[in-house]
Amino acid sequence: MSKERFEELRSQLDEVNLEILEVLNRRAELVSEIGLLKSGKGTERFDPIREKEMLDKVVGANKGPFPDDTIRHLFKQIFQASLGLQEEEKKSLLISRKNKSQDTVVQVGPLTVGGGAPVIISGPCSVETEGQMEAVASHLKGEGILLLRGGAYKPRTSPYDFQGLGKEGLKILSETAKRHGMVCVSEIVAPEDVEMACEYIDVIQIGARNMQNFELLKAAGSVRKPVLLKRGLSATIEELLYAAEYIASRGNDQIILCERGIRTYEKATRNTLDISAVPILKQETHLPVVVDVSHSTGRKDIMLPIAKAAIAVGADGLIVETHNEPAVALSDAKQQLDLQQFSTLMNQLRQSGFLKDAVQ
Ligand code: PEP
Ligand code: MN
Repeated sequence: MSKERFEELRSQLDEVNLEILEVLNRRAELVSEIGLLKSGKGTERFDPIREKEMLDKVVGANKGPFPDDTIRHLFKQIFQASLGLQEEEKKSLLISRKNKSQDTVVQVGPLTVGGGAPVIISGPCSVETEGQMEAVASHLKGEGILLLRGGAYKPRTSPYDFQGLGKEGLKILSETAKRHGMVCVSEIVAPEDVEMACEYIDVIQIGARNMQNFELLKAAGSVRKPVLLKRGLSATIEELLYAAEYIASRGNDQIILCERGIRTYEKATRNTLDISAVPILKQETHLPVVVDVSHSTGRKDIMLPIAKAAIAVGADGLIVETHNEPAVALSDAKQQLDLQQFSTLMNQLRQSGFLKDAVQ
């Protein structure tokens, strides 16, 4: 073969490569458009029947020199890449940073969560009595805490354990908070209770065990109250993000994410705090992220370093369970700080500069 012919063939090949590139990208644009239509209809993006039809058509038209199997393989690769393209687009969720670059600031009464100083959320595991809530709230308010927690519907492992005071608990929590000029958060476990709960509480908590209770997520997305969404016991970060998207997709973007530890083989702590989840969530979403130092560790002796770590990696707040008499608490007795221990924790955090700009 002459040198010129060789060069000519090579330049033809270069041209064909560019043609293939153009055709591939034209195909990708069509796929994207179809993907958008599918997401509007909620249709599954991978459609094996359609894929087989397309492959059969292409192979049927194959005149060689490539054998059918090679064509099948090459087109399979193209289909796969197209699906990947659709998956990329799917990642552009409402809660994603790709959609909104500024931090979402969740307004809870006078308090802002996200984009500023870390917020401390504290109170007992469960609302037990008026006296208990009064003792805890007045102490917390004295420490400058504004967001009071307390469970009224308790998702307990054993049905024989204290299940919470229900609506009565919400009333006690709400009245106590109001009396002290505080706002309050409590876990709701049933979709049908969400609207009722809005009369009493300022933030709806969706607990770890209910992170994928999709009806509850939809109900919380349908009201105009901030939602504190805790990561499921064995949920991946992606699953937490999709759970938050359920809420956002119903029109409620006032969502606070909570890393509260996940199940691992480690027994030294109640759960394993996934500290890297905090910067990842902050990177992936515009939502504020808080860390529950009580349910993650399940122990008081490492709360200070864990709280510091959480703030150091960018948490927008902490959840700390506090009880006036932890030893006799009806739930989570072991991990709740007494009032003095809470003050010590706050002082240590303040003194080491971790709550410098905090309202607390
Ligand atoms: C709680 O905050 O009261 C609670 C039950 O936590 P979690 O859902 O994270 O276990
Ligand atoms: Mn608890």
